[in-house]
Formats: sequence, structure tokens, C-alpha cells
Amino acid sequence: MSSLLVVGSVAFDTIHNHLGSHDRVIGGSATYASLAASQLADVRLVGVVGQDFPREAVEMLRSRGIDTSGLEVAIGETFHWEGRYSDDLTSRETIQTDLNVFADFNPKIPASFQDSEFVMLGNIAPQLQLHVLDQVQRPKLVIADTMNLWIDTALDALKELLTRIDILVINEEEARQLTGYHHPLAVAEALRAMGPETVIVKRGEYGALLFLEEDIFCAPAYPLKAVADPTGAGDSFAGGFLGYLAENGHTDLRQAVICGSAAASFCVQDVGVGALAELTREHLKKRIRDFRELTCF
Ligand code: AMP
Repeated sequence: MSSLLVVGSVAFDTIHNHLGSHDRVIGGSATYASLAASQLADVRLVGVVGQDFPREAVEMLRSRGIDTSGLEVAIGETFHWEGRYSDDLTSRETIQTDLNVFADFNPKIPASFQDSEFVMLGNIAPQLQLHVLDQVQRPKLVIADTMNLWIDTALDALKELLTRIDILVINEEEARQLTGYHHPLAVAEALRAMGPETVIVKRGEYGALLFLEEDIFCAPAYPLKAVADPTGAGDSFAGGFLGYLAENGHTDLRQAVICGSAAASFCVQDVGVGALAELTREHLKKRIRDFRELTCF
């Protein structure tokens, strides 16, 4: 299997939604992305947790084949994010972000990870994402995620990052904020002019749009009867997307988008990482086949 380096947050999340309150469940961008890719690639995780992070959670990641030797345990408490969803789950507000040990996170890529073929830069400060790129040798493909916080507070570093990555994965709202445009083609053209050859705009329950040169591909979100928790859907999408490219040697980006959408659809069916922790390659492949049925005409 190809090697896939994932760098990002590993967290406790407190989630308030239509099902109630879920206190300090395991989350974080790197956790979701690693789990989503774990059945497709040799995932190498780099992140930081505090001494309060449960050993069983690390064991769960290891049991999925994820190499956690780059998961630093620092003195202090684990990053904690708390958010509340609207009843229809279409929007959320951040109630609290306790950076804790994440405040001093300075990702160190272990020597044994520096030859990683595929790199996923999860949502962390763009300066840190750049620092990761300075430590890896010659990856075949680098994808990055970002968020409004960094557009507001670290725009110069973010712009530099965009010149050094192959694929940007970004929420529609944040893509509009970053470019100042509203309509999809204008947004994509402006983002590609900033550096990345390929841009993927995530549209939540409406799926994702892929832009590569003249090619545009539109993937729906998989229709579900119920959603338990959308947290981590975007990170799971990115993990499934890059996992597919790692497994298949970077070929068909459209197939990869569908694999990302399949991973995200499993993610939202349970609270936290519950569904991803049980996900098999067969489940993913079956859902990719269902996507084909769903969209073929
Ligand atoms: P998503 O729903 O895909 O946007 O990702 C949700 C995950 O992002 C949660 O598990 C949080 O722990 C994590 N998260 C929230 N805020 C931040 C932040 N400022 N930096 C890094 N990760 C974050």
C-alpha cells in the first residue's frame, strides 16, 4: 500500500445537536481523515495530544493500521472543540475552542515518515502546514484543507501555501470568502490562479465540486434517511479522496471524489468517529457502487 501522511488536529469534541449533547468524544481533523483513509493506504498520523488522551483511542487508531508513532503526547490537556448544530444540521456555531497543547504544536515529521508519497495537510495554521512541507522529501501529491480562521488571521501564509500544494479542499463559504466571488466557476478560477492545479469545493449536504483545468465534476452527497452528526464530514471526505488516490496510484480524480463522498456519508451516520472506526474496505466499495447507480443516466 502507498504511504499517506496526515497532519492535523487530534481532539476532544463536545457536540450539541438534535440527538442531545455528546461530551468529549474523540475527534479532530487528522483523526477523521486518518480513519477514512486507513483501509486504502498506509496512514502515518502526525499530531499532538495531552496526557488526558485515552490510551484506548490510540489503540483504536492502531487497530485500523494507522501508524501513530508521530502522535506526540505533550504535557497538558488535549485540544478541545465545542460546537452546537442547528436542528436541521445545516449550520453550526463554535461555542468554545480550547487549544491546550495544540497552542504549541510544531509538527515534527519523523524521519521514517519523510518519504511519504501522499500528504494531507489537515486544517491547522498555514505556517505549520508550510513547515510540514519543508520536512517531507518529494511527495507525489499534496492536498490541504483550511478554514475561515486562517483566511482572517494568516492570509499571507495561506497564499504561500496555495503555491506549494496540488489540491485545495475547501468549504464553499470559505472559498467565497477567500476569493471574493460567489458563483462556482469564478470561485474555482480565482482559487486555481492562486496556485493549486485542482480545487475541490465542499458543499455539505449538497456534495462536492471538482475543478481541474477544463474539467468540472459534480458529486452529490449520498442520500441518507438520517444524519447523526456531521462533524468531521469534510475531513473524512479528504481522507477518503486521498486514500483512493494513494490506493490507485493517483489516477482518476472523479472516482476519488466519489470515494471521499462515500467516506463522508459513513462518517455522518454516527456521532464522532463511531462509524469510521468500524468502516471496512468492502463497505466503502459497496457505497461507491451505489453512487454509480445513483448518478448514472
Ligand atoms: P469538520 O466538521 O470536517 O469541519 O471538522 C471538525 C473537526 O475539526 C472537529 O473534530 C474539531 O476537533 C476540529 N477543529 C475544530 N476547530 C479546529 C481548529 N481551529 N483547528 C483544528 N481543528 C479544529
